[in-house]
Amino acid sequence: MSTPMLVAEGVRKSFGDSEILRGIDLTVGHGEVLCLLGPSGSGKSTFLRCVNHLERLDGGLLSVDGELVGYRRDGDVLHELRPREVASRRAHIGMVFQRFHLFPHMTALENVIEAPCRVRKQSKQAAVARARELLERVGLADKADSYPSQLSGGQQQRVAIARSLAMEPKLMLFDEPTSALDPELVGEVLTVMRDLAASGMTMVVVTHEIGFAREVADQVVFMDGGVVVESGPPDEVLTRPRHERTKSFLGKVI
Ligand code: ADP
Ligand code: MG
Repeated sequence: MSTPMLVAEGVRKSFGDSEILRGIDLTVGHGEVLCLLGPSGSGKSTFLRCVNHLERLDGGLLSVDGELVGYRRDGDVLHELRPREVASRRAHIGMVFQRFHLFPHMTALENVIEAPCRVRKQSKQAAVARARELLERVGLADKADSYPSQLSGGQQQRVAIARSLAMEPKLMLFDEPTSALDPELVGEVLTVMRDLAASGMTMVVVTHEIGFAREVADQVVFMDGGVVVESGPPDEVLTRPRHERTKSFLGKVI
């Protein structure tokens, strides 16, 4: 069997005296979609930030495509990654946030080509050609020259997804990508995410969109209080949750 795309083993993270992640174990195979559910404050964003090298673990191990997050293996010895190594590992992970964080002074196209040109040193011509393909893929071919302020929230989020994809990530992390959107704009973003999943992208999606999780997820993980309470196929976790905490949470969000 090939190495899973993401493995978390006993992942722990504290801020000051409060332990936010209290031993998270999960595995995501290549091409799989994991939907991460849980009440506010349960540690979902912190977990994604750990995967994306934005937080340092206090315990446990995380690996992305066989490489340890934060460390380089040298025989049996682990060395902490240097900033440059962290940057190069992070370049393989795309992250989409609740707020879109587009560069306001750049057009949609300029937002998408920025990292490939600056980080990857791609030629502008190649980056533009690829960006046009990606904007088309997210349904925004005609908005290439629009500035974020001229786009709806759903359109901005789709540009943000195209911008992440421009770095050819092997893993995409989504942190409540539709939570800041007006309800009528949620569907267009979920459609793009559904297509991305169908194309074989490995994805970890923090979301309260239970319909999306039911339809797209291979695996649903319900977290509460920094631990995984329950995980399994959507049919089990969402339809026949075994734990009271999962039942009560689903009762509130559905
Ligand atoms: P979720 O995404 O599930 O809502 P978070 O991972 O954002 O949860 O947060 C979990 C807890 O960790 C919250 O109580 C939050 O206040 C705390 N927390 C998150 N980031 C920090 C930080 N940088 N410093 C201190 N506390 C933090
Ligand atoms: Mg969060």
